[in-house]
Parts: sequence; C-alpha cells; structure tokens
Amino acid sequence: MPQVETPEKCWVGEKEKICYETREEAEMAARLVEVAHGLEVGTLHVYKCEIGKHYHHARRKKKS
Ligand SMILES: [Zn+2]
Repeated sequence: MPQVETPEKCWVGEKEKICYETREEAEMAARLVEVAHGLEVGTLHVYKCEIGKHYHHARRKKKS
C-alpha cells in the first residue's frame, strides 16, 4: 500500500488520536485547534504517548 497523507493516529482508550512527532508540533497544533474552536488558550494540553514515540492532545477538564 502506498503511503497516504493522512495524519498518523493511534487509539487511546476508545478514541482515535492524532499523533504529533514532536512536542513543539503538538503545541502549535493545539493552539490552532483552540483558535479554530474558539477555546481558551490552554484548553488543550500535550502529553507523550504511552505506547509510541509521539505526542497527543488532551482536553483539560474544566474546574467547577
Ligand atoms: Zn499514541
């Protein structure tokens, strides 16, 4: 199969998540997603995947 230009993904729990190669790349993407969705900066945080050499986004839980 030829390589297609879809982002790499992996399954975390029940969710399929986009993988980012570096923390910097993931942080930049997080800021773009926040702007695109009208979210507060810092809503998304970046963490290293437990099973692969890449990073994912996770949404911070709102304090109540
Ligand atoms: Zn992963």
